[in-house]
Formats: sequence, C-alpha cells, structure tokens
Amino acid sequence: MTHIAVLGSTNMDLVTYVAKAPQRGETVTGREFHTIPGGKGSNQAIAAARAGATVSMIGAVGNDAFGLRLRDTLEHSGVDTDFLRTVEGSSGTAHIVVDDEGANSIVVIPGANGTVDHLSPGDEGVIATADALLLQLEIPLAAVVAGAQAARRHGVRTVLTPAPAQPLPPELLAATDLLVPNEYEAVTLTGRTDPREAAAALLELVPEVVVTLGATGSLYLARGTEPLVIPAPQVTAVDSTGAGDTFVGALAVALAEEKPVREALSWAAAAAAISVQRAGASASMPYRPEIDAQCT
Ligand code: ATP
Repeated sequence: MTHIAVLGSTNMDLVTYVAKAPQRGETVTGREFHTIPGGKGSNQAIAAARAGATVSMIGAVGNDAFGLRLRDTLEHSGVDTDFLRTVEGSSGTAHIVVDDEGANSIVVIPGANGTVDHLSPGDEGVIATADALLLQLEIPLAAVVAGAQAARRHGVRTVLTPAPAQPLPPELLAATDLLVPNEYEAVTLTGRTDPREAAAALLELVPEVVVTLGATGSLYLARGTEPLVIPAPQVTAVDSTGAGDTFVGALAVALAEEKPVREALSWAAAAAAISVQRAGASASMPYRPEIDAQCT
C-alpha cells in the first residue's frame, strides 16, 4: 500500500458567525459558533488517507481538549498518529470571524505547532519509509527544511504547498520535488500575475509545479515536457474550504501509485470537486471509491 508522510500543522478552527464583525473596543452578539478540526498538515493527511494511502502524521498537539479531538479526528480517518506528539500547552488555534457578507478575519495562534521546529527522534525513520512527504508552511520553517532534506537523503518525493505564502529559502527549494501553490501563492512568490508565467518562473526553482486555479482547474509544468491544463469538473460549490488540501493529498497518492501525470491530476481534481460540493474542510473530503466513481 502507498505510504504518505505529512509533516505539518494541526489546528482547531474556532469559527464565529456574526452580522458585522466588531470594531476595536466594540462588543457584538454573534449568531453561531463552531469548532472545526483543521490545519493544512492535518487536512492533507486526512485527504491522503481517505484517498487510499497509509498515512503518518508528524507534528504536535497541545495537552488540552482540542489536542485530544485533533488526534481523534485524524485517527477516525485512518491516519497513524504515533509521530504526532502531545506537548505541554495549547493546541494550535485559528480564530475566525465570518460576517454576513462572507468576509472573514482570522487570528492564528500556532500553539503546539510552534514547537515543531526540528525533527524529533523517529521522524526521519518514518519519512524514509514513505513514498512521499507532504509539507506546508504552518510550522516553523526550520522543521520544514529539515523534513525536506531528510526526505531527499532517502530518495522520498517531497511535495510542498507554499502556504501561507512567504519567501522560500534556497535550501528548501533545493529539496522540493513538486511545488503546489494556488494562484495567489504563485503570484506572491514570483510577482507574475499570469499563472502560466508564474508557473514558468517557479519551474526554474523546482523540477515540477502545479498551480491550482480554483474552479478553473490546474496547470502542470515539468522541465522538458509540454504544460498540461487540467480543467476542474463543473460542479455547484457550497464550501471550497480545504479544496487545495484535498487536491494535494489525492495527487500525492495518485503519483505514488505511479498513475500517469495527467490521470493523477484529473483524479485529484475529481477528489477536490467532490469536496467543494459538501460543507466543511476535512469533513467534506471523499473516500477512494467516491473518487474512482467520478473517474470511470
Ligand atoms: P483552499 O484554500 O480553499 O483549500 P486553494 O486556494 O488552496 O483552496 P484552489 O486553487 O482554490 O486551492 O483549489 C484547488 C483545486 O480544487 C483546484 O485546482 C480544483 O481542481 C478544485 N476546485 C476548487 N474550487 C472548485 C470548484 N468551485 N469547482 C470544482 N473544483 C474546484
């Protein structure tokens, strides 16, 4: 069975719905409150597990009630949490206020994620046995670099989602096989507003790039091959939260199974299209039979 390792964040999203967000010094009464397990690392781990891989999650949660639920959520989708450490203090949280116009403001407190600033004993061993390592930028950069370099040492494919967008150090780029920015991240990283130009600029830094383009689909570039344009299935989206993580998790599984690249991208697009038709981030992610059913 395909084995995917994920080194990244787990966060509890604390989502408040309110007619109008409070201004400085103001108190308002909101309408609804939800706690939703998330974090890009956790989301990608769940996406890959549901897509059919054995998945090991490397990271940290706090020794609080959120930590228990975050771990439980991963395990419920079949993710191995033996390398998800429990540390003293709070789990990572994202405090999200959504107003009636759908606009949001967010405060992220890294909590336990902030302690993942190095590889712990055993992490390199689990990375070495994986077919791919999935990385994002919601834990300290030092650990992301260390993880990518460990994967490199063992010939394990590295897939980096450069979110939240920030400059990428040369040593991280040197250890990245596949970079998967969304359109905003691609533009931020390159200063090019045209996705194709941005992807071409990124291809000078890493061997393979996929720029995801929301409902439009995705664009794949690899050195020495023609670009591929992969349309997204036309669906009625109700909640696109986590679409990018669903796409990356499924893509990593398909590539590890050695599906041809175009087929792997279409399979990932099918997985993401299913997820946007349902509410929630990880809760909306499809299981393998649902993805396969869209691709026959
Ligand atoms: P998010 O931050 O919401 O997780 P993202 O910004 O990282 O997403 P997107 O580019 O929006 O990533 O979406 C990733 C992939 O999901 C797209 O390439 C596409 O295949 C699929 N997708 C996103 N939105 C839609 C949609 N409305 N309809 C169909 N597919 C979609």
